Amino acid sequence: MSLMRLAYASEATFEAKPVEKGVEPHVARILMTSRKNNAKDQLVGGLYYGNDRFFQYLEGEEDAVRRTYDRILKDDRHRNIVTLIEEPLKSRTFSNWSMKYVPLSRDVRAFLDDQGLESFDPAAFTSEQCEKMIELVRNSSQEQNLVNRDGSESVGDAPQVLSSGMKTGLIVAGVVLVGALVIGGTML
Ligand code: FAD
Repeated sequence: MSLMRLAYASEATFEAKPVEKGVEPHVARILMTSRKNNAKDQLVGGLYYGNDRFFQYLEGEEDAVRRTYDRILKDDRHRNIVTLIEEPLKSRTFSNWSMKYVPLSRDVRAFLDDQGLESFDPAAFTSEQCEKMIELVRNSSQEQNLVNRDGSESVGDAPQVLSSGMKTGLIVAGVVLVGALVIGGTML
């Protein structure tokens, strides 16, 4: 079994819907399918979307990477696909993200500034810039936006499970509210 890694750049064909928070709906659907399929195929990687452009990095068993890339190449939600990296890999370099999503983040803006690039155009990246992007995706500490099975998004970075601190806070807030209502009621 041999491992390989692959990175490509492409342009979105859809018109991005403005979203105040969370993931653009087309991208949310792509992420949902990717996470389902990639987890099954033990593929890991990251997807960056910004400026109507995609940058995706995939690594895993060669067969699985190639099969997935064949499907991606046929997808009409993007065009002008440019393969940036396609090579064997000695060992896996990513944690267990089936498809980590990186929106336009401060890290990436800083990277573009650092490189003297005005806009995000991954098709024009040098190989060094590609490696830096992969590093950014790998190290991204962004909270992952949650994508539901129906393709809708759980808004923003809202935690799915409340932390114990938040639970305690909510209970205290509830007790204070009930107390205020009782006091208010007795004063009427
Ligand atoms: P299906 O069951 O065929 O489709 C799943 C969902 O996607 C359905 O809701 C379907 O309506 C919708 N869909 C599929 N094709 C289109 C289309 N052309 N236009 C609109 N909606 C569509 N797939 C992966 O498995 N792994 C990846 O890492 C991955 N990355 C991608 C990155 C980009 C930038 C894009 C554009 C696509 C990516 N895809 C990825 C999706 C891939 O191109 C295929 O659509 C998908 O792999 C098909 O898988 P499926 O047969 O399980 O899904």
